[in-house]
Amino acid sequence: MTNLTTQSRRRFLMNAGASALAIPTLTDALGRPIQSDSAQPGRKLGIALVGLGYYSKNLLAPALQQTTNCRLAGIVTGTPAKAEEWMKKYDIPKGNVYDYKNFDRIIDNKDIDVVYVVLPNSMHREFVVRAAQAGKHVICEKPMAITPADCQAMIDACKKADRQLAIGYRLHYEPFTQEVMRLGQQKVFGPVRFVEASDAFKIGDPTQWRLKKSMAGGGALMDVGIYAIQGARYVTGEEPISVTAQFSPKTDPQKFKDVEETLFWQFQFPSGAVSNSTTSYTAGVERLYASCQDGWFELSPAFGYGPLKGRTSKGPIEMPVVNHQAAHMDGVCKDLLAGNKLPNHVTGEEGLRDVKLLQAIYRAAETGRKIDLKG
Ligand code: NAD
Repeated sequence: MTNLTTQSRRRFLMNAGASALAIPTLTDALGRPIQSDSAQPGRKLGIALVGLGYYSKNLLAPALQQTTNCRLAGIVTGTPAKAEEWMKKYDIPKGNVYDYKNFDRIIDNKDIDVVYVVLPNSMHREFVVRAAQAGKHVICEKPMAITPADCQAMIDACKKADRQLAIGYRLHYEPFTQEVMRLGQQKVFGPVRFVEASDAFKIGDPTQWRLKKSMAGGGALMDVGIYAIQGARYVTGEEPISVTAQFSPKTDPQKFKDVEETLFWQFQFPSGAVSNSTTSYTAGVERLYASCQDGWFELSPAFGYGPLKGRTSKGPIEMPVVNHQAAHMDGVCKDLLAGNKLPNHVTGEEGLRDVKLLQAIYRAAETGRKIDLKG
């Protein structure tokens, strides 16, 4: 994983001489250049949410009432009753409401700059590709997709359309998380020796898509285990070189007939650091702990919507508490408005790295073998 601090400070300003970086001029759906925010102070990018389920309804739409660089401009839903409710609640004009079939017409809508895909995991690929083809920048929820091939197709489609693709990695914009990235990556307590990173919760409704492999790609690992993968990577600032993993026996084989219930895995990193992780749909844990040569630090809770809480061997971590979703969308849109290239650690390339690791963990658990991740 690229050093966060360096990356987040790095700004790729657009100018004629920057063509080698292949950064697109920011344009609207009709190809007209969008002014940078310095040219149009106060301009907010219009976001259309695709899929009005739990995350859109309870987290993203409310957050978009607090954002400064973007606003809720449109919706894409298969449920007419939801469309009516949202239009009224958020004052969304009928012309900015789409269903899954007529969604491609969004190409003609100059109110919408960014499409945010908040659908079940297996649908991410189709809607990211269609959004890019409609000339929109895209934010796609985690996990980016259910296979690396899907991720690559999404990256390629955005590249071809000269649009940017961000993944819903809200924690990269969250101050407690940014602080543990700094502590680990800058070796503030010396080199990280081992990490415990776990994320798990007790899942409800046995009929939901999260328990269907064809829609979710897997079980708890795809849903929340990905946060533990991210945690181990952003605390060490390294990419794992090998993984071992173990499924636990299922306590409810009927509910979890299609996907794993609980999974443990261990990464080894080039520096010699190791991590140990648990994910589960049966019980809760949410913790990121790093033991370093000269001390330790931890977040607990570490991955939820906050407030997060942290401490180190020297005392508590004090950071501002922010709305994760607002910080995330504002951060992404700030770069889009300014014509900056998004930092690598929040883009489709980062999403692809994680999906490759998700698959490697499954392979390790299924075979009982240590999987080599080098190369
Ligand atoms: P959800 O089930 O509450 O919502 C899914 C939406 O997709 C619903 O509006 C549903 O109507 C729609 N949909 C369209 N076609 C569907 C189909 N064939 N089957 C099922 N639903 C269909 O899910 P959610 O919790 O909002 O999650 C959506 C995405 O957001 C997932 O990828 C999830 O991982 C991600 N997510 C991210 C976070 C985060 O903190 N970043 C939190 C929650 C969810």
